[in-house]
Amino acid sequence: MKTLKIAIQKSGRLNEKSVELLKNCGLNFENYKSSLISPVSNFPLEILFLRDDDIPEYVQDGIADLGIVGENVIQETEVEVSYLQRLGFGKCSLKIAVPNNSDINSLADLHGKAIATTYPAILGKFLKEQNITSDIRTISGSVEISPGLGLSDAICDLVSTGGTLKSNGLKPFADVMSSEAVLIGSKSIAESDLVQELIQRVQSVLRAKETKYVVLNVEKQNLPAVIALLPGVKSPSVVPLAEEDWVAVHTVIPERDFWDRISQLKQAGAQGIVVMPIEKIIL
Ligand code: ATP
Ligand code: MG
Repeated sequence: MKTLKIAIQKSGRLNEKSVELLKNCGLNFENYKSSLISPVSNFPLEILFLRDDDIPEYVQDGIADLGIVGENVIQETEVEVSYLQRLGFGKCSLKIAVPNNSDINSLADLHGKAIATTYPAILGKFLKEQNITSDIRTISGSVEISPGLGLSDAICDLVSTGGTLKSNGLKPFADVMSSEAVLIGSKSIAESDLVQELIQRVQSVLRAKETKYVVLNVEKQNLPAVIALLPGVKSPSVVPLAEEDWVAVHTVIPERDFWDRISQLKQAGAQGIVVMPIEKIIL
């Protein structure tokens, strides 16, 4: 059987979560910081540890079959790859920001201004769509200090919390794109059985992350009201208790509106609510 190769970031913001995801998929491998390639002992897969900028091209050229990388890097490198799965981590936005005291107040004000960025391709496309001609200054890092040094009037950079902008006296001004880590594959690789198996494992881990396993006790007379509040994969399991008028309800609820739902369940008569993390959900 052919051994697949998956490229992930060697070190940086996506490394830890990428390794964690693959480990949660049941893949056994050593995560030596010094190695460039690591074989998986229980799946025909090798892991390549690379700079994130190189991942899209490696996948496009078939040197790696799969990759985990930020959408921003894929868009910037303008490669032909297949998006296989959004991964829900590494979330950030590419934003244009200006100094707090800037007289740039609308997108049109960017006309003729200098914007420093490490994302010239994405920014160029965005400005073109807005019919704005600016002077895009491509730099390789520390974009946020360039207005302070007089190198640009604005910047276009990745932002997650906005803390870096704030500490450099900048304010976000316009959203260019939002991004998260995605699983990509070289064209037509998605049809391979091994890749399908891997995608299913990834999806089962992601599904589990979005949900919690909940067990609660409720008096039989309140059971319909409690069940009405539960989504579950199918209908919830209802288990008899030693005390005759009471039952235990086992179900799965989404992380998203977790606390709202718990307080609704309490109001409907749920007691002794136990909440547990889920490792995998296989449909
Ligand atoms: P490499 O050494 O691999 O080239 P890098 O320095 O280019 O790493 P990182 O800063 O580690 O890249 O970021 C990797 C990815 O993490 C980004 O491309 C982006 O998709 C995502 N990300 C999430 N939040 C942020 C953020 N606040 N700033 C920058 N990137 C972020
Ligand atoms: Mg990089």
